[in-house]
Amino acid sequence: MRESGTIWMDGGLVPWAEAKVHVLTHALHYGTGVLEGTRAYETPSGPAVFRLDDHLARLYASAKIIGMRIPFTMDELHAATVETVAANGHDACYIRHLVHAGYGEMGIAARNCPITVSIATWEWPPMLGSGVRLKTSSWRRNDPNVVPTVAKATGPYLNSVLAKREALDAGYDEAVLLNAAGYVSECTGANLFVVNGGRVSTPPSSAGALEGITQDTVERLAAGLGLETERRDLLRADLYTADEVFVCGTAAGVVPVLSVDDRDLDQDGPVTAKLVDAYAALVHGQAPDTYGWLTTVLGT
Ligand code: PMP
Repeated sequence: MRESGTIWMDGGLVPWAEAKVHVLTHALHYGTGVLEGTRAYETPSGPAVFRLDDHLARLYASAKIIGMRIPFTMDELHAATVETVAANGHDACYIRHLVHAGYGEMGIAARNCPITVSIATWEWPPMLGSGVRLKTSSWRRNDPNVVPTVAKATGPYLNSVLAKREALDAGYDEAVLLNAAGYVSECTGANLFVVNGGRVSTPPSSAGALEGITQDTVERLAAGLGLETERRDLLRADLYTADEVFVCGTAAGVVPVLSVDDRDLDQDGPVTAKLVDAYAALVHGQAPDTYGWLTTVLGT
């Protein structure tokens, strides 16, 4: 990976190579961490972080769900994020917040491990390129009653790792996971939308999907374009017969799906194309920032 100069860790910037942990870090053994993936984009006012406060709010909500107290305020982490992006001199970057239970006590319930907070930034191209070939995974999505799927926690990502590797090994770009009941949930690191007969639908979080910040952005952009969206349960076959399918997430952006399980889809779908353009204009500060979603890093 492309290393940057520094990583923020527990209150200050440290050189990239020194941001280390002990092998008895609780989170390594039991997945006790919460994370965020955010991006800063190039804009006419310099680099700007997109929906930083919403990502931080989800980080705190995830921590609350798994019973972990973050030893910094949201304002402190907001400032630390801006400081890290600026210190690394990025025009644009991916930002990884991680809060994890560290070294101090072993055992599953261990409550006295120190909590480590880190913010790493690096330059990372879009995760899925400009078009995606999806494969339905043989792995089912985590059930919300097995692990809380609305929390963006580290442990449950093993489910995504298995599905992603299976899809790549079979020659596809990404997996789509069904939940235990057989409804479409999401991809390994992105949400999914289906456009059919003018209906724009995305699975609800009750299907095991993360409440995506890009998913929410797309819903609002669609409303601005006069398109109605709905959250509803979707079947695997709904993906095959859709007019258009697209995936969305911070790492990927908004990306058309070219095929699902080798059933070709319209890669130039008009709804997807409008949303791809609207999203790009918004994050790059080329459309009015109506919601105040862009946090400028260097000042104007
Ligand atoms: N689902 C999963 C499993 C993810 O990892 C992500 C990326 N955080 C998403 C959906 C999309 O979420 P967001 O739009 O907030 O990046």
